[in-house]
Amino acid sequence: NRQITLASRPVGAPTPDNFKLRETAIPKPAQGQVLLRTIYLSLDPYMRGRMSDAKSYAEPVAINEVMIGGAVCRVEQSHHENFQVGDLVVAYTGWQDYAIANADELLKLPEQLTTPSYALGVLGMPGLTAYMGLLDIGQPKAGETVVVAAASGAVGSLVGQIAKLHGCHVVGIAGSAEKCHYVTDSLGFDACLNHRDSNLAEQLAQQCPNGIDIYFENVGGAVFDAVMPLLNASARVPLCGLISQYNATELPSGPDRLSQLMGLLLVKRIKMQGFIVFDDYGHRYNEFSQAMSKWLAEGKITYREDMVQGLEHAANAFMGLLTGENFGKLVVQVGPL
Ligand code: NDP
Repeated sequence: NRQITLASRPVGAPTPDNFKLRETAIPKPAQGQVLLRTIYLSLDPYMRGRMSDAKSYAEPVAINEVMIGGAVCRVEQSHHENFQVGDLVVAYTGWQDYAIANADELLKLPEQLTTPSYALGVLGMPGLTAYMGLLDIGQPKAGETVVVAAASGAVGSLVGQIAKLHGCHVVGIAGSAEKCHYVTDSLGFDACLNHRDSNLAEQLAQQCPNGIDIYFENVGGAVFDAVMPLLNASARVPLCGLISQYNATELPSGPDRLSQLMGLLLVKRIKMQGFIVFDDYGHRYNEFSQAMSKWLAEGKITYREDMVQGLEHAANAFMGLLTGENFGKLVVQVGPL
């Protein structure tokens, strides 16, 4: 049983020596438990936060513990009546080949699910994040302008497409020309800008002639600087993530603009609201799942996975996620289906 553990806490960007691969015996399930074999492991930006011991909404991973993570797993042994050998489930088993889990920690996947890894993305946590953040906090109306960064990624790609389904003018921001082409040509956004271009602010102003009504915040930093002057009165900002800051070791240089931001929120009556997806919206999973499954079946949502082969490549793939090397939802295939 291969396991990848947290060997040390990163200072700044994670490095290979923050992770360690070790071999252990396959664990034995007790009464009420199942033995799970990992097929697909989801790699997500929140894991950077769990590697750090700074106070947050969730406990950090302890040193020498297995890195946490959601996975699609096959039930290999069952000591619980609700699960049979061969069932596919989603569980938070982490970066390892085998794990035991309590039956009440498992979500059983329907037999007819043709692509089980979608349960980690478009039909899972990132999908729920995009759907609830945009619809519940963003409250999009037809004709409004929506901007989202990390636009080719798991959450951003869905935010933009759901906004299009609601009749909005949608501008994405992504990290390469190739990603931008995908966002406009395959996902159907109205425009997509490269945040590595020096004149991002001017280009964004051009693509948002009526200002910005919803900015779905995934990245923070320089992208937010370009967005801020364009926010309209009564704009909504679902505050989902700040990935440009996850490896930061100090506050950004330059003048402190907090009072400028607060002044803007005040005079323009802008609503900026953070959310933690399962804490705030876990109870609405079924509503989301029905809507998204329908859109997928109707061909209204396009979804791309970046599938990495082999648990031994998980650390490298995760480090790349924080710098934009992934193209689509990052998933590791740990074992055969
Ligand atoms: P993605 O699949 O979008 O991958 C992350 C992407 O972030 C990279 O591919 C890169 O894309 C972009 N990125 C990295 N660094 C920067 C930077 N400095 N400036 C601009 N973009 C950058 O990841 P997810 O869709 O899984 O996550 C997107 C965001 O949503 C994250 O901030 C994450 O923490 C957050 N999130 C929050 C949840 C919540 O409950 N609040 C739940 C799930 C996700 P590019 O090449 O285009 O720059």
